[in-house]
Amino acid sequence: MKLAFTRDEEAFRAEVRDFLDRNLSADLRAYARRMTSVYSTKPVAMEWQRILVKQGWAAPSWPVEYGGTNWSVAQRYIFDVEMARAGAPPLSPMGIGMCGPALIGHGSKAQKDHYLPRILSGEDFWCQGYSEPHAGSDLAALTMSAVEDGDHYVCNGSKIWTTHAHEANMMFCLVRTDSSGKQQQGITFILIDMTSPGVRVDPILMLSGEHIQNAVFFTDVRVPKANVIGKVNEGWTVAKYLLEFERGGSSYGPRLLARLRSLRQIAAEEGLLDADFARKLSQAEAEAQTLEAAELQMMSELAGGGTPGLKASMMKIRGTELSQHLTELGLELAGAYAAPFQPHHTSPGGPVPGFDGANTPLVGPESAVTVSAKYLNDRAGSIYAGSNEIQRGILSKGQLGL
Ligand SMILES: Cc1cc2nc3c(=O)[nH]c(=O)nc-3n(C[C@H](O)[C@H](O)[C@H](O)COP(=O)(O)OP(=O)(O)OC[C@H]3O[C@@H](n4cnc5c(N)ncnc54)[C@H](O)[C@@H]3O)c2cc1C
Repeated sequence: MKLAFTRDEEAFRAEVRDFLDRNLSADLRAYARRMTSVYSTKPVAMEWQRILVKQGWAAPSWPVEYGGTNWSVAQRYIFDVEMARAGAPPLSPMGIGMCGPALIGHGSKAQKDHYLPRILSGEDFWCQGYSEPHAGSDLAALTMSAVEDGDHYVCNGSKIWTTHAHEANMMFCLVRTDSSGKQQQGITFILIDMTSPGVRVDPILMLSGEHIQNAVFFTDVRVPKANVIGKVNEGWTVAKYLLEFERGGSSYGPRLLARLRSLRQIAAEEGLLDADFARKLSQAEAEAQTLEAAELQMMSELAGGGTPGLKASMMKIRGTELSQHLTELGLELAGAYAAPFQPHHTSPGGPVPGFDGANTPLVGPESAVTVSAKYLNDRAGSIYAGSNEIQRGILSKGQLGL
């Protein structure tokens, strides 16, 4: 295992820093600083994506022929670290981070040629249709049906918690094409045009009031057979592959450490860095550094051709729990200033229905304005991408043999 960065990798870091200094505008940085959810809005995500696409850096893990980079795992990690350090807004994870890899790993050449450029250009904006009302943790229990009819499948059923479904024109979706065998068999991975007749999208509001998630209903929706990715009835393989990367492909450590630096700075500026709060910050910092060390170790293994495997579950648990803890420290720091509801001074991840767009001046320091919404939104971190209880189950079975 080798954890130190080489001279070339440090030169690459300097190149990334220089790019970010020149291209990450003050507006984008300010937007990201005021974010209350883990998602940027579509216009911001696409603005930043266009800049990255121009540079050839929007989809580092994709093959070069489709607009990816030839970066090593270490370079990809450095890129992530520098993006976090600079405070760049996140891109939408569903296109480049999820549908793209599914297409690259399991799509035909024609499917890759058609969809991958459209993900980069933003022509297609994606949502993920996995969860159903009775199939979340137990995803293989999904029942949304797809029945053959000539060159099409006719889809009926519903999906829930679908992030960005109200803005997406495409969904990558798991449907049931056969119910005769084991639950995991008979699932097919298919791409659905959200503008098709029979698709209805209803909002689900977050605790913070933001509209980011949705319930989606399908009534006799016709989907061309050409939209199946991989083999019919073998969609579970694609789904599992994606989930592993959704949980473990990200680098939590650098982002947590950047947030901790910011908390420490705010505490110092506000005269609130007393011994007790300093101890809490240091403890959280030690835990974030431990997580970062584990991520570097995983990165080293990935560079040797490994996959995230069980470690993805460990990273997901530690990353989301530490993130939630930081939102608690943020609340503690803000004190009473966490109370006023003033989304017009923040960058919500989606519209806040029912809020009248007040033009009242900011109450309290700018650093306090996002903390309540962040605290509420971050509760979801231990639920989505497979709940932390499920991750503990995976670890106890796979790692401890229980
Ligand atoms: C903000 C947000 C965004 C999301 N975005 C998307 C999206 O874009 N697309 C999508 O498809 N889905 C999305 N989801 C859905 C998410 O993947 C599911 O919520 C998650 O898998 C949990 O499923 P569930 O909600 O049905 O809860 P359930 O599976 O009903 O679980 C309820 C509780 O029981 C626990 N539990 C369940 N089974 C076990 C077990 N075997 N052992 C121990 N504990 C267990 C769970 O941990 C949880 O605490 C999103 C969810 C949230 C909150």
